[in-house]
Order: sequence, then structure tokens, then C-alpha cells
Amino acid sequence: MKNQLTAHQLSVLRMVADGRTHSQIATALYVTPKGATATVNRVLAKLGAANAPHAVFLACQAGILDGRPRRHGDHAGYEAHRKRGEDPKQCEPCRLGERAHKQAMKKRSERNREAA
Ligand SMILES: [Zn+2]
Repeated sequence: MKNQLTAHQLSVLRMVADGRTHSQIATALYVTPKGATATVNRVLAKLGAANAPHAVFLACQAGILDGRPRRHGDHAGYEAHRKRGEDPKQCEPCRLGERAHKQAMKKRSERNREAA
């Protein structure tokens, strides 16, 4: 994205994504409702969004907001931790899921060898 959001704009976008109104955002940020609206409008302009739901959608697509539920407890969840730069072994469901996955892969290759 050519127009990167500032940390402040990103926090406002997260609040929009949480369903907060401009006046709730204003209260949270200790700014006037007009100031909150101005920031929201700047975020919309930077994202090229027509309105707030459109902005949240575009931000999710661009990976600015992670709108997808995180998957845990299997090989895909384990790999997703790695992609986020986290240690997947710290997540118990994913650690166990990855172990089960490896055992299943090993069993499958043993079966294939026996069949050959
Ligand atoms: Zn996990």
C-alpha cells in the first residue's frame, strides 16, 4: 500500500473494525468527536475506501487487520504460527496437532513402502 497508516490511524481503524462509533473513538483517544471523524476520514482516504465497512474489508484483504479467525490444533495452525514469526511450540494445541500430523505422515509413508 502506497499510503501507509500511522500507528494512530491504525489504532483508529482497529476501533472502527471493533464497531465503535466516532464518539466512542473520540472518548477513547481523548479527542473531540470532530477530531475522531477527521482521523477516520483520513484512514478511509488512505485505504481508498468509500465508507467504514469498505475500509475494514480492504484492510483485512491487505493484511493490515487480521480478520480471519486463527486456526489452531493442526498442521496449518502450526505453520501459521511460523508465518507470524511466533514459536509454534509455545502453543499446546498446535504442538500436539503437528505431532499427530507428523505421525500420520510417517504412517502413510510406511504404508506406501509396504504396498510398493
Ligand atoms: Zn496455535
